[in-house]
Amino acid sequence: MTPGERRAALEQVASEIRDCARCRLHEGRTRAVPGEGDPDTEVVFVGEGPGFNEDRDGRPFVGRAGGLLVRLLTSIGWQREDVFITNVVKCRPPENRDPGPDEIAACAPYLRRQLELLDPAVVVTLGRYSMGTFMPGARIGQVHGTSRPADPETGARDALVFAMYHPAAALRTAAIERESFEDVALAPSVLLRARERRTGVVNAAPERAIIDMAAPAAPAVTAPAPEPASEAAAPAADETSQLTLF
Ligand code: URA
Repeated sequence: MTPGERRAALEQVASEIRDCARCRLHEGRTRAVPGEGDPDTEVVFVGEGPGFNEDRDGRPFVGRAGGLLVRLLTSIGWQREDVFITNVVKCRPPENRDPGPDEIAACAPYLRRQLELLDPAVVVTLGRYSMGTFMPGARIGQVHGTSRPADPETGARDALVFAMYHPAAALRTAAIERESFEDVALAPSVLLRARERRTGVVNAAPERAIIDMAAPAAPAVTAPAPEPASEAAAPAADETSQLTLF
């Protein structure tokens, strides 16, 4: 598929989302929020669902949580335009309540199609509801900052899933904000390892302390790095270019 074909196919999914009436969330929406970003990206961020600002603008993560997401990305030299950002539900739940299982299920085919088209190397989950889609049964307090292979049934056929707290939780709690910055600092290493899994080519940069979760239902995980944990996420100067994303 050419980049132009991918862009057109993503736009087709987006236009179906804008017309969608598969669940009750469409009744209260101002605008559906399909997601946005670079159609040729290697990294997809998946949040929970649109809030007030996103519903108004039809764009994901444009409110305060979005501001923090951009700061997290900037802290590792990434830009929001270089990734793709979407949500598990594409319409705002009333009063920002949590999305229901039936609403998540109704919207799941859209996320699956987006992931099939994007074929990312890394899916970053933001918060419990996104994590629940990609790491069923996991607990956010235990898996944040860790990665595991994605179940291809999610649409991400050859990706690592990397779990993070939701930025809104980080805005509420200083300790979670601090942990979120620590977690996102691991994302470039996860991307490197995801590329290695996809290409079979081992990068010259030594593996950094990424902890694979031994997910019972997931395929075998890569062996963890031999380096001491104290070196985690602090690339040596000569490795920096290898951590460049795009
Ligand atoms: N929170 C989300 O989960 N998604 C958005 O798009 C905005 C806030």
